[in-house]
Amino acid sequence: MDKHARLRQTSIDLLMGAGASKVGIATAETLEGGPESTDLSYVLPGARTSLVFALPLDQRAIESFLKKEDMAAANKDNHRVNTVAGGVALELAEYLNMKGFKSVPIIPNAVYRKDVPGGIYTEIPPISHRYLAARSGIGHFGLSGNIITKEHGAAIILGSVVTTAIFNHTEPLLPEDNYCDHCKLCMSSCASGLMDDKNKTTVKIGGVEFSYAKRRTYSRCDYVCGGFTGLHSSGKWSTWSPARFPIPENDEEFIPALMNAVEPYRKRPHQEFGCNIYHPLAPGNRLDFTCGYCQFVCHPDKAVRVRRHKMLVESGVAIQGKDGKIKGVSPEEAKRHLAAMDNETRAMYEWQSQ
Ligand code: SF4
Ligand code: SF4
Repeated sequence: MDKHARLRQTSIDLLMGAGASKVGIATAETLEGGPESTDLSYVLPGARTSLVFALPLDQRAIESFLKKEDMAAANKDNHRVNTVAGGVALELAEYLNMKGFKSVPIIPNAVYRKDVPGGIYTEIPPISHRYLAARSGIGHFGLSGNIITKEHGAAIILGSVVTTAIFNHTEPLLPEDNYCDHCKLCMSSCASGLMDDKNKTTVKIGGVEFSYAKRRTYSRCDYVCGGFTGLHSSGKWSTWSPARFPIPENDEEFIPALMNAVEPYRKRPHQEFGCNIYHPLAPGNRLDFTCGYCQFVCHPDKAVRVRRHKMLVESGVAIQGKDGKIKGVSPEEAKRHLAAMDNETRAMYEWQSQ
């Protein structure tokens, strides 16, 4: 085994030893012709290779989160896995730096390009872990646009390292092995309507085509998964957000809706799980993890997907008590709870007609 092959294997061993469920390798060549967020030289001039890895989320926390029985476990796990993935990426990048190859870690989330019009608010990542993961065989694109794996479904967190070392790439998975059967349960679990039911996005990366449901404006997910609001249009279920500001129909209405929901967001008490999640775009920088349903519902076993979706739509709606704690109740009880509030308190959760 030559020096590069040994270093490649050690890098994979380091990632797997740190808890990765899978490691893929994409190169400047296998990423050629891809979208701009597959350009490794954006983060490191002279970069030749990227190692991308998946860390699984804790499946045990998922169903109690979907049922609105336990908000804390999935929040803690999400925080833990994101932090571990960032740390592991740093560890590998520094290891490769020590071995003489310039390398940079790319943490899983909450880093965006600053040098584009609109800056970080456009939420363009320096490098797309998803594209790298699909091209290097970590998983397939599901219709949701999430990376899905036969081991853990979509319940994974991705991280990457970009390096000047030259490693052999790994191949994409065979399309016929993709478990996504277009069940659309990801779409019906999304109160924001991020995924377009009719149109698809197709990207070609290194000569290989990948497609998934076209994503409407990301402000939809910011508004809902970001916790600004969360009541599904049916009125029967919600995310873990206790707010019920209307979710618009059209993309262009989302920024004004978000702006209107900022002040109430700031005023509502945050959850204290001993693992605060900080995000540069969140008002006041604190974020509570309230959704992720498109990820959590998408289990490789269709029977589990159907069961999880049922759990979600029967989970009721979130309300926030005087102690700041959030719990799920029936839609009727939620209405009574809100109606009993004084106007100032109620304005933190919904608009009131004059
Ligand atoms: S929930 Fe269904 S349609 Fe959506 S990505 Fe998963 S398998 Fe595909
Ligand atoms: S995280 Fe929630 S709001 Fe965002 S796309 Fe997934 S289901 Fe929709």
